Amino acid sequence: MGEFELISHYFAAAPCAQGGEGVGLGIGDDCALLNLPAGEQLAISTDTLVAGVHFPALCEPLLLGQRSLAVAASDLAAMGATPIGFTLALTLPEVGSRWLQAYAEGLDRMARHCGLSLIGGDTTRGPLSITMTVFGRVPAGQALLRSGARAGDLLCVGGDLGNAAGALPLVLGERTAAAALAEPLLAHYWSPSPQLALGQALRGKASAALDISDGLLADCGHIAKASKVALQVDLDELPLSSALQGLLGLEGARQAALSGGDDYVLAFTLPPQHLSSLQQDGWPLHVVGRVLEGQGVSLHDRQGQDITPAVRGYQHFRETP
Ligand code: ADP
Ligand code: MG
Repeated sequence: MGEFELISHYFAAAPCAQGGEGVGLGIGDDCALLNLPAGEQLAISTDTLVAGVHFPALCEPLLLGQRSLAVAASDLAAMGATPIGFTLALTLPEVGSRWLQAYAEGLDRMARHCGLSLIGGDTTRGPLSITMTVFGRVPAGQALLRSGARAGDLLCVGGDLGNAAGALPLVLGERTAAAALAEPLLAHYWSPSPQLALGQALRGKASAALDISDGLLADCGHIAKASKVALQVDLDELPLSSALQGLLGLEGARQAALSGGDDYVLAFTLPPQHLSSLQQDGWPLHVVGRVLEGQGVSLHDRQGQDITPAVRGYQHFRETP
């Protein structure tokens, strides 16, 4: 099967590639065309997943299809953007029809779950690597930036933390666990649910936001730096699933929540007057700390003691001492 047949069979024919709101022209020409309503801005984000770095090379392709798009869509959630579409740049070592069929199926499921149309891409041969670019729209000036947090705001997260980090040793085959513990954690890893609706609900309310990809402490550091404030995280307030605590114990679960990667849960700062209305509307929302004058991120125990650990989250290209 040649490049063009592959594109048309697996991708252009997928339900998610048949256009949607905001898509003027999809796959097939030199560019896709997006229609943006007057007064809205285009939100754009790119993510690359490399086999052996971001996922095991021999993983289940359907799950990879879901996860590769969810990771990218999560950035739209973090900006409060409404999804429009995405492009897929796929580098493949060889054309295996079973792999492509399953990958495209997983991708299509997640695309329809998120309301994202596949609008184009590129297909090349080489070591397996997946690059997604997602496009969304947001009313001008209302995107949720990292830079708006103010002293006095609450620090909140949109759901349980650490589940994907807890799942990683299971994904890598480094350990096993009873199905009752393993299944909910693996589901989080392979099929994270980008918090798109929550992000949109936070427009005009949250003062800063991002999606947690490198652990709560490291990602809060980005908000603290961009907003020129200090963030204080309360250890006792971390939302932890029972599966994660069952697998790792309380200490291990806290460690995964603070420093593990891949959660794709929103973290945001909120002026306190917005808390009760969001809670009443039923949004998943946990207050895990507060914004103070100053700089950096600190972790505090129940007694208010500063127990900030030295190492925070995963970084590519980190210098070794
Ligand atoms: P060009 O050579 O002009 O870059 P291509 O031949 O690479 O175009 O692609 C032809 C069309 O198929 C384009 O519209 C492109 O966006 C789309 N396309 C290519 N690869 C993919 C893919 N993996 N998924 C979705 N669309 C794709
Ligand atoms: Mg091309």
